[in-house]
Amino acid sequence: MAKETKKVERKYVSASKGEVVTKDSKSRATRLRIGAVVLWLFAIACEVLCILYLNGTFFVPSEGLEILNITLLPMTILIIGIVADLILVIIGSQLWKKANHINPISKKNKVKFFLWNQMGLIVAVIAFMPLVIFLLKDKNLDAKTRKIVSVVAAIALIIAGAASIDYSPVSQEELAEAQATYGDDNVYWTTFGKSYHLDENCHTLNRSKTIYYGTIDEAFEANRHDPCDFCVPQGDE
Ligand SMILES: [Zn+2]
Repeated sequence: MAKETKKVERKYVSASKGEVVTKDSKSRATRLRIGAVVLWLFAIACEVLCILYLNGTFFVPSEGLEILNITLLPMTILIIGIVADLILVIIGSQLWKKANHINPISKKNKVKFFLWNQMGLIVAVIAFMPLVIFLLKDKNLDAKTRKIVSVVAAIALIIAGAASIDYSPVSQEELAEAQATYGDDNVYWTTFGKSYHLDENCHTLNRSKTIYYGTIDEAFEANRHDPCDFCVPQGDE
């Protein structure tokens, strides 16, 4: 069988939204971080409400609470609280990660670098672990409700944690070095690949239909901060 080098039809998409993002990256990052913290606080508020409900501060009759002709059973109320908590934690963490990719902190202090970049994971634990413990110790809910809600809360904890981890944190030094090397030159990346490329005809891009291009800052923002092994000259690290 002949080896076919299929040439796919290619589409180039600019990563920039028609604005110069680099100049403004610090204030953008600050806004993203404030947004993250606000969402996280709302998430923790959801958890606190669930806990207050569990410990009886809010009384809900076991046959449910009637709101606008809808009867909310204890299970429904708790699951709504957990889902709201989950959504808020995840969105907050995405804003936090984005901020750290456009305006990273120095990696000189390794502990601080780790804690800062994994703040989303820490918040996910804070936003679910106490609730899980309360549920496991609860004596007021019926057994079935308690079991189901505990499982839902535990799954939410895992999902929130997994979605909040920054699997490839960026350091200030890494971004500064890349900025010094590439300036305003375009780099290229794809929907799924985790690297950025200097050569749009790099053979690893052969099968990609959509190629994104933008400055190195935009590549970092898109979480593409790993230089391609083939088309980016390898520095001596
Ligand atoms: Zn490449």
